Amino acid sequence: MSNVHELNYLKDQVQELKDQGVYRVLPILEGANEPEVILNGKSVINLSSNNYLGFANHPRLKKAAIEAIEKYGVGSGAVRTIIGNMDIHEKLEVELAAFKREDAVMVFQSGFNCNAGAIQAITNKGDLIISDELNHASIIDGVRLSRADKAVYKHSDMADLERVLMEKRSNFENCLIITDGVFSMDGDLAKLPEIVALAEKYNCMTYVDDAHGSGVLGESGRGTVDHFKLHGRIDFTIGTLSKAIGVIGGYVAGSKVMKEWLLHRGRPLLFSTSLPPAAVGAISEAVAILTETTEYTERLWSNSRFFKAELGKLGFNTGASETPITPVIIGDEAKTVAFSKRMLELGVFVSPIIFPTVQKGTGRVRCMVTAAHTEEQLSRAVKVFEAVGKEMALI
Ligand SMILES: *Cc1c(COP(=O)(O)O)cnc(C)c1O
Repeated sequence: MSNVHELNYLKDQVQELKDQGVYRVLPILEGANEPEVILNGKSVINLSSNNYLGFANHPRLKKAAIEAIEKYGVGSGAVRTIIGNMDIHEKLEVELAAFKREDAVMVFQSGFNCNAGAIQAITNKGDLIISDELNHASIIDGVRLSRADKAVYKHSDMADLERVLMEKRSNFENCLIITDGVFSMDGDLAKLPEIVALAEKYNCMTYVDDAHGSGVLGESGRGTVDHFKLHGRIDFTIGTLSKAIGVIGGYVAGSKVMKEWLLHRGRPLLFSTSLPPAAVGAISEAVAILTETTEYTERLWSNSRFFKAELGKLGFNTGASETPITPVIIGDEAKTVAFSKRMLELGVFVSPIIFPTVQKGTGRVRCMVTAAHTEEQLSRAVKVFEAVGKEMALI
């Protein structure tokens, strides 16, 4: 007998995923996120994390986390407004604002939560949001939560952005242009100087989600805005604390009034418990390290230059990346999945990225090089790329 509580409609949809060959099984990591890991019981080189600086298992961050637990416990106990706001949360925001060279920072529990909370809080009915077509899923969801009208421009196409502005800007009160700082599938940078110029010409605000630029670009990882020397000309900058910073969390950087407003209207901040002390302690230490030394970001960039050059010499197409994100473009979807599977068999974990995440025919494995990889590990990975590339007649 069929019963709605057997969730047959979901079972049917899961079966459809299986039939289409896109049903997922999660890989299981045994131990910390390191350049070499035990994955599904097998030792492999990890080219698939966002742990850009190797901070996720850094001794100084771990020590700071343990000290924070000892003094503050494992949980903050509440949302920030009803005393889940410890002195270390306040201190972290001051440190992050100084690091980012902005007037104020508001920390959220994740980068996703920043977009879910900030976009709807800073826009209203009668406003217009203009978004790059390749913006991250959390921006798309954040925009959906807003009562403003929405428009999309072709990826990094400034003529198309200006077309939208000319057509629509005058019909709306405020206008917010939103872009990723670094686009995560291709590793290309937003054309921020041009976007800022258009925003200034058409009296729009700017919002940059710099999840993949935080800890990567700019002086010692201060981000894409710092890279382009656009301080003071971007209204809202989102950073993650979960990628290069190695822990969890996100923040909105900008003006003092931004912070005051999000404190009253940032829903994830008002209705979800604040970051645990261990995370706050570890993030503070990460910011301290980046303030002390540029050695981590320098190693990240020299490793990624080395790796890209080696793959290029073999004849692989690494696309138009301007960052350590290194796509190796295979093309055909099935071939991409087969390539990644064979790489894993030979001891290198690189995730396949295919349609609908990227355009049809542009399937790629996306390599994430980190500061923690040794040249020896990267060379070994390149050898496996060579072997699989030749085996599959790609090079
Ligand atoms: C990863 C990512 C996020 C989400 O950040 P989390 O801190 O993992 O929630 C948001 N925006 C962009 C552009 C991202 O790449």
